[in-house]
Amino acid sequence: MTRKIAAGNWKMNGTGASLAELETLAARTPGTAEMVICPPATLISRAVDKAGPVAIGGQDCHAAASGAHTGDVSAEMLRDAGATYVITGHSERRADHGESDADVAAKTRAGWEAGLTVILCVGESLAEREAGRTLDVVGAQLAGSVPDGATAETLVIAYEPIWAIGTGKVPSLEEIGEVHAFMRKTLSERFATGSDMALLYGGSVKPGNAAEIFGVADVDGALVGGASLKASDFGGIIDALD
Ligand code: PEP
Repeated sequence: MTRKIAAGNWKMNGTGASLAELETLAARTPGTAEMVICPPATLISRAVDKAGPVAIGGQDCHAAASGAHTGDVSAEMLRDAGATYVITGHSERRADHGESDADVAAKTRAGWEAGLTVILCVGESLAEREAGRTLDVVGAQLAGSVPDGATAETLVIAYEPIWAIGTGKVPSLEEIGEVHAFMRKTLSERFATGSDMALLYGGSVKPGNAAEIFGVADVDGALVGGASLKASDFGGIIDALD
């Protein structure tokens, strides 16, 4: 059975006061969808204390377990703080920090070694979509970023077209369906449990468009940025998935 997951990425937003939003989410009666919130690293320990049924994740991890990497956080540290998920390969990390597919693969392996479930992000730029290269780009990212040994338990894929993140623009349902069908086929051919891996869509998901996106075949949930910051918005998205 494929899991259904609503994952929120707070990015570089949030202080202790923001945990009130998490407490509101934690008070929900859990439905069939798994709820995940990835706050900034500074909030993980405190978030875990208030999360109830909501799983807590990191937004990134270093590929090494420890060492001379000033400012970085290892997967082991995330796990020690109580996180059970980590995002790897977000397009903002790929762009702002020059992360390559090989870097994303190394971070993903580190997440697994620490016992975390990894939400690995892929997605094309607007220029790549306009050039008709979307499936080539996503296929190359899956080939280069997803390490051998992935299972439906340990890996979740988020398809996030870069041009849809934080812009209010969303691909058509047909476009989302085409990429998700392609990812399902690619992962099923490579991994024994690929047909059960949760495939999330991410990019300007809101309560108002979530239900139609979740109605697309092979969309098993969402990775949500802006609309995950308020429990009322994120709750609306979870309602659409439950
Ligand atoms: C994201 O950053 O992963 C994301 C999907 O952002 P937003 O929902 O704000 O587009």
